Amino acid sequence: MKYFLLWSCFPLWLSGCIGSPSLPSPHSLQILCTTEMIAGPLRSLVGSHVQVSSLMGAGVDPHLYKPSPTDVQRILDADLVLYHGHHLEGRMGDILDHGNSSGPGSKRHHYIAISESIPQARLIHSAAETVDPHLWMDISLWIEVIQQMKEVLISIDPEHVAEYEKSLKPLVEELTRLDAQVFDLIAKIPESRRILVTAHDAFGYFGRRYQLEVMGIQGISTESEASIDRVNRLVETLSSRKIPAVFVESTVPERNVRALIEGCAALGHNLKIGGVLFSDAPGPAGSGAERWRDMVLQNARVISEALR
Ligand SMILES: [Zn+2]
Repeated sequence: MKYFLLWSCFPLWLSGCIGSPSLPSPHSLQILCTTEMIAGPLRSLVGSHVQVSSLMGAGVDPHLYKPSPTDVQRILDADLVLYHGHHLEGRMGDILDHGNSSGPGSKRHHYIAISESIPQARLIHSAAETVDPHLWMDISLWIEVIQQMKEVLISIDPEHVAEYEKSLKPLVEELTRLDAQVFDLIAKIPESRRILVTAHDAFGYFGRRYQLEVMGIQGISTESEASIDRVNRLVETLSSRKIPAVFVESTVPERNVRALIEGCAALGHNLKIGGVLFSDAPGPAGSGAERWRDMVLQNARVISEALR
């Protein structure tokens, strides 16, 4: 509810009812993002007068990320901080939420949980009533988030409205083509084999969009522990449906996936590791998944090849 209220203030702020933040001008605008999933598309939207940086780099798990004193200073120094929200950032998110709700003198309107701009009805809710924060896995949904980024840019930097409008169009066209490419890759998997088992529940939106049944070993956050019950149920499903592969994730330890392989072997089913998926952070240089859009495409390729 707190998040809804925070977000519900956002249109008011955009319209100037509760005061727009005053930003230093005409110097370069400093926008700090928590992850590359936000920073990457944002860089495609802005011109050279805006500096975009992200706190978490390749292979960093946002659920477990603990901000350093330097990070806190970077947050305080930025003209605008964009984060995902919906508890993706764990402790970092708490700091930003707190900044949003603290009293006069705070830079509360400079912290925006950008995923929280998406209507509740479009989101995936877990049994525990929490929102799945991994929206970037559905390219069409992330395009909507990118459109919100453009609105935020216009609100803080109205002088460059034409530039932002102009850069959005080719970006959306490019991402729409990428979305179709991912559809094509997943469509190559026989329907009976379209089960994606990964280390944690990061692929819910991916599965919903591209029509795969998704089962995570851990819950939505990497903070939760996999239960023996859950592992046993997965072993049963994988063996009975002869699913050839499960996947490991770059930001999550592989031990739970190993438990599945051993469990299936005991039932006479040869389960393989289908490859590494990039769930919550892009890959290092040379991985082919250095940017958000590459992550999603690379995942689709790995999944498509391993399950065919
Ligand atoms: Zn995650």
